[in-house]
Amino acid sequence: MIERTAHMTNLTASSQTIAAGAPAATLPATKPLDESAAFASVALADLPPAEGPLSLVIPVMNEEGNLRELHSRLTTSLQAIGRPYEILFIDDGSTDGTWALIEALRKEDPSIVALRHRRNFGKATALANGFSVARGDLVITMDGDLQDDPAEIYRMIDYLNEGYDLVSGWKQNRQDPWGKTAPSRLFNWTVRRVTGVQLHDFNCGFKIYRRDVTDTIRLYGELHRFTPVLAAAEGFRVAELPVRHHPRTWGSSKYGIKRLIKGFLDLITVFFLTNYRQRPMHLFGLPGILAVGIGVLIGLKLTFDRLVQDQQIGTRPLLMLAVLLVVVGTQFFALGLLGEFLANGRNAAKNDPERYLRSALGVTGERHWPTGTV
Ligand code: UDP
Ligand code: MG
Repeated sequence: MIERTAHMTNLTASSQTIAAGAPAATLPATKPLDESAAFASVALADLPPAEGPLSLVIPVMNEEGNLRELHSRLTTSLQAIGRPYEILFIDDGSTDGTWALIEALRKEDPSIVALRHRRNFGKATALANGFSVARGDLVITMDGDLQDDPAEIYRMIDYLNEGYDLVSGWKQNRQDPWGKTAPSRLFNWTVRRVTGVQLHDFNCGFKIYRRDVTDTIRLYGELHRFTPVLAAAEGFRVAELPVRHHPRTWGSSKYGIKRLIKGFLDLITVFFLTNYRQRPMHLFGLPGILAVGIGVLIGLKLTFDRLVQDQQIGTRPLLMLAVLLVVVGTQFFALGLLGEFLANGRNAAKNDPERYLRSALGVTGERHWPTGTV
């Protein structure tokens, strides 16, 4: 169990020294990009600017040749921003010298924190573990392959502070081979259609979250591509900002064409999770009613034929259809009921209002309430 409060004091104490020495004049030059096309859900002025410490969460797997340069560029950008920060590397089962390098870097820079997985568990698990130990008020995720540009962090924070909970990077000028970008377009288009979240680029590793978001969404499997969808489903405000993207110069991409198929399967999962997790009977009940209803009607017609018209029905295909519909329909019901039991099991545990709230008024008790609580 990680003691967040204890760490937090540490973080503020250890990194403030770094922040103090950072001259504001060295703010990174941020080339303006075309922001007009960026999507944003409604920004509301009632969201206070997030001004606390930053946690950089960086999953790395076999990125030995990129980390030193990434660390140095990050440090330049973060010191210029001038807030306390921590750089949290999650070594996701590297088989090269990545961990040894992280250990060496940590000796030089105490703001580095690191987790090392026993084996490769995937980027989503790495991010989820990073979220669990991150201590900053803002959590920034980026890839460890130097494709994301640390100089953009400043703009992303600025944009978030216009009233969003999550700002997702958009690799508008994506520097990847055609074989990657074309399937990615198809994927993004489908996700937009299915989920209604109008981002251009769901799979960008470069994102910034308020801590409430990372504390609320649940990442596992390969759901890291869907954090904006999961966040939007929880009522968080999501926006997108074009960011610079660089080609990979060292090491190789960990994802091939298989990611497209997995991505679509995960989209189905996410669709059902965000729409029916709390009411599975609504999903299974309708097909259940339809199937049983039609099956019973056909059965009644056959009974009429047999009893009143005195026809033989034993060999009629309709009989088989009637039986099939009733059996399948009943199964749908049973699935819906099982789903309800599962959902109830989750809810029967102590209710946790915090995960639903933006803020509260006059509520007392030793609890952590979301940002903006009065
Ligand atoms: N990564 C990881 N675990 C994995 C696959 C990837 O931690 O199982 C990391 C990887 O080291 C990199 C980031 O996730 O820092 C993005 O991976 P990659 O650059 O291969 O993805 P692409 O840019 O090709 O989409
Ligand atoms: Mg990459």
